[in-house]
Amino acid sequence: MYMSKMFIPTLKEAPNDSEIASHKLMIRAGLARSLTSGVYNYLPLGLRVLDNIKNIIREELNEKDAQEILCSALQPRELWEESERWSDYGKEMFRLEDRNGRAFCLGPTHEEVFTNIVRREINSYKQLPINLYQIQNKYRDEMRPRFGLLRSREFIMKDAYSFDKDEAGLNKSYEEMYDAYGKIFSRCGLDWRAVLADTGVIGGAGSHQFMALSEVGESDILYCNNCSYAADKEKAEFMLENQVCEEVKLCCEKIYTPDNSKIEELSTFLGEKRSKIAKSLVFKVNGKLVLALIRGDRELNMVKLANELKTIEEYIEMASEEDIRGAGSEPGYIGPVNLENVEILVDREIQQLSNFYTGANEKNYHLKNVNFGVDFKGKVLDLVDASEGDKCPHCGNLMRMERGIEVGQLFKLGTKYSNLMQCNFLNEKGENMPMIMGCYGIGVTRTLAAIIEKHHDDKGIIWPLEVAPYKVIVIPVNHKDEAQMNAAKDIYRSLRSIGLDVILDDRDQRAGVKFKDADLIGIPLRITIGRKISEGIVEYKERSNDNIEEISIDSLLQRVQDFIVKKN
Ligand code: ATP
Ligand code: MG
Repeated sequence: MYMSKMFIPTLKEAPNDSEIASHKLMIRAGLARSLTSGVYNYLPLGLRVLDNIKNIIREELNEKDAQEILCSALQPRELWEESERWSDYGKEMFRLEDRNGRAFCLGPTHEEVFTNIVRREINSYKQLPINLYQIQNKYRDEMRPRFGLLRSREFIMKDAYSFDKDEAGLNKSYEEMYDAYGKIFSRCGLDWRAVLADTGVIGGAGSHQFMALSEVGESDILYCNNCSYAADKEKAEFMLENQVCEEVKLCCEKIYTPDNSKIEELSTFLGEKRSKIAKSLVFKVNGKLVLALIRGDRELNMVKLANELKTIEEYIEMASEEDIRGAGSEPGYIGPVNLENVEILVDREIQQLSNFYTGANEKNYHLKNVNFGVDFKGKVLDLVDASEGDKCPHCGNLMRMERGIEVGQLFKLGTKYSNLMQCNFLNEKGENMPMIMGCYGIGVTRTLAAIIEKHHDDKGIIWPLEVAPYKVIVIPVNHKDEAQMNAAKDIYRSLRSIGLDVILDDRDQRAGVKFKDADLIGIPLRITIGRKISEGIVEYKERSNDNIEEISIDSLLQRVQDFIVKKN
């Protein structure tokens, strides 16, 4: 298209409330505009990129025989009552009423709606498996909408739901989606890792999150570059160091440690490493006290603790000072030795320690030479966060930790919704069985933001070819120069004739302004037509590097085609 006719409102400055590159650049490059907190309108360039991402998703999902449908965002309360989620969803759900006072929500997700469609239309094993998806707007009244499209209140999601007749079928559907997701995010130019996600007590047989590695991500991911192991910090496991402790186990004794209730203080006071001091953390769960004992240099992992206690994090509270005194101990000095009526959970690494320190359950006193199994007992399990440099649980290689943006998630739902909503089918034997479900989301608008996060420099966006809104921009240096303009139009036409999306910057602007805009909006290839057009020479430049090449107009088409082929 001719740029003079296009609506690309670029800006020199980013809005004040934008903190991260993708948010700043999406506004500056005229991709989108904010309407109100967490709500965006997409302008032509932004929409083209979104369409490209959607098409990549469609191609890969259709390849797996998933079929696209489109559901309404407006959903009646009754459906959500059936799944028992109307109240569970809480404040994140946008709720509204019709003129007769009937309650609705703007769908934050569509498990209920898809289950409802399938239960009405499908009743035999002969019609299974089936995988349906849509690409549509979701509404979530997020507590903190932020970072532009990364966490907004209205966003575009691709959500797919699979219905199978048995577990084996679900596993296959899940694997196919996993495979498609890898292809989708690679085509989008993201450096992704599929991490095992925690499914909490609500359970389900498994879940993976697809994470785009990025500093601005909200999750910490541990991953191994030797094998494919990757997991969210909440879930990440690690291989224990193979420590054979030669130390002779000594007798436990009480030592005076005045005003040293914190690990750091104690470590300085004792002149001992923090890893030699065991940290006791006490919680109250369903009225009972639980002590978690971990090494002083580690962090307790609340998700692992919650899973062990078969509850969710929200139901675990720190024990109060009264609770601790009530258990015959002293706040700041609690420890597992001779502590009654408190369940003791011991991290695996504690088992490997000899002669370590713990609180003595007495003000200003600790115990030294404490040994697990000798001085106290407890259930041994993995209770701590893995960290950078811990060993991969699969291959023992050292793991790295990086932040990631969750761009997609796969979930084995099993029969949760089919049971609650009677989504059944008749099997080969004529028995009525619940369908086995999976659900699979991709944040389309979040993916757009993640792409910009990975592909930009100080001048602007650098679109990966496949998602780029236009592939080539043709810039005549002087639009008043007839020879330049005619050549530019010829080139524009010939590039379009080979099926490329091209912009011709015919604006009455200085070349510098045009170059800046081309860089900002991130078009992968720039062809500049200047004075040398009289010699049949134009400039060829890729957005991703600084080289400017003079090439003959005759070789231009081939050169552009080579670039396109190479990038695909
Ligand atoms: P998060 O933990 O980031 O809130 P979620 O677990 O609530 O995500 P899902 O319900 O699994 O997300 O939704 C599927 C996908 O939709 C996510 O992987 C993410 O890419 C996207 N998504 C979720 N919430 C938002 C949001 N507020 N803004 C933009 N994209 C979102
Ligand atoms: Mg969420």
